[in-house]
Amino acid sequence: MRPTADFIILGAGIIGLTVARELLLRGHKNILILEKESSLGAHASGRNSGVLHAGIYYANDSMKAKHCNIGMNLMKDFVRRKNLPLLETGKVICAGNEVEANQIISLHERAEINGALTKIIDSQELSELEPLAKSYGGKAIFSPATAVVQPLSILEALKNELFANGIQINFNSEIQRIKQNILFTNRGKISFSHLINCCGTGALKIAHSVGLGHSYRMLPFKGMYWVLDRNTSARISRAIYPVPNLKLPFLGVHVTKTLDGNAKLGPSALPAFGPENYSLFSNISFCTSVGAFTTLGKMYLKNQNHIREHIASEISKLTKEGIVKELRTILPTLQAKNISKHPQVGIRPQLVRTKDLSLEMDFQIESNQHQTHVLNSISPAFTCSMSLAKSIVDHTFRNFTL
Ligand SMILES: Cc1cc2nc3c(=O)[nH]c(=O)nc-3n(C[C@H](O)[C@H](O)[C@H](O)COP(=O)(O)OP(=O)(O)OC[C@H]3O[C@@H](n4cnc5c(N)ncnc54)[C@H](O)[C@@H]3O)c2cc1C
Repeated sequence: MRPTADFIILGAGIIGLTVARELLLRGHKNILILEKESSLGAHASGRNSGVLHAGIYYANDSMKAKHCNIGMNLMKDFVRRKNLPLLETGKVICAGNEVEANQIISLHERAEINGALTKIIDSQELSELEPLAKSYGGKAIFSPATAVVQPLSILEALKNELFANGIQINFNSEIQRIKQNILFTNRGKISFSHLINCCGTGALKIAHSVGLGHSYRMLPFKGMYWVLDRNTSARISRAIYPVPNLKLPFLGVHVTKTLDGNAKLGPSALPAFGPENYSLFSNISFCTSVGAFTTLGKMYLKNQNHIREHIASEISKLTKEGIVKELRTILPTLQAKNISKHPQVGIRPQLVRTKDLSLEMDFQIESNQHQTHVLNSISPAFTCSMSLAKSIVDHTFRNFTL
């Protein structure tokens, strides 16, 4: 069978689309993208907070740190060039207690090394920027570069750019298995020279089927949101984040001013019953759940990554009162009557290392001669994507020449 295209990209989320664009920028046009859904943004890339992160939190030697600030700037340029919505109001990071207050300085130092411009502000400056926010001990961090975008408009603009250059996306094409250089899909067989797996929550299963990614299991984490009523959201001007627990890959429940003038609260981060278990009883995957909850049970016994405290705090956030209690440490006037459930739910394809049951904090790229697999594409992969795509393509060419 002759290869259908030089490069087959699996998944048309932000990673698949930006990888295709990067290949195009390097002069490759013979690319085919396969996507199981009928439209863009059905999963994480269309269900996130839409925040372009400046690169504050990430370990200095990580891929996240390497790509976040550069990726943010590349994405901002793209958004401006395409005249897409962009809210450039920055964000404040506030401490909710003494432990968090003690981390403000080290977080600021980490940000500096990562190239993220931030400033330590006092309570007076904080109340000028965000009158409703409070930070324990008085000091907070201001990140002027953090911005908010509309993820779906970016996916759509990328698709249009790819289409204009003759690159096709085959929607409704689900990859079922791979044997040597043949892909078996619900619409028949396709042969490939090189494939790049960008399937988000589906990526590890595909990698496992070809003998890669075996040092990981996937533990999907669900993120749910709430929305502030209009009167209160009108008094919020920018994103307000807590100081996160840096042992976890989640940033904590925050407030994001959205482009439609609302303010979203969330996302939570509770283990889900499957990679697409968006509502309580939908898409429950028995196999994933048994494997994931067995892994979670073992992590719980070891209290790996402080998972016991994390789960207890996430369970309390299932109610309005729980979310409000958590956020009141940095937004003291918030009341349960001012918030309501937001319909958006997203799921993170969080990997756990099988060796020691720790949560993988960074992106992972694994490859063999004809395949590249992008794993653990968790936050801030949306922000990083245009820079990360360069590393993914570099990685691909290390093993493969046309
Ligand atoms: C709640 C939440 C909030 C977040 N907030 C932010 C944020 O504010 N800023 C930020 O930078 N990042 C954020 N992220 C992270 C970001 O959204 C993701 O890291 C990013 O979207 C991952 O992109 P992706 O292309 O890897 O995955 P996806 O968007 O999931 O795309 C993968 C695609 O592959 C397809 N696919 C899967 N399996 C198959 C198969 N077998 N065959 C064919 N196609 C398949 C899927 O249909 C999907 O379209 C957030 C994530 C979540 C869940």
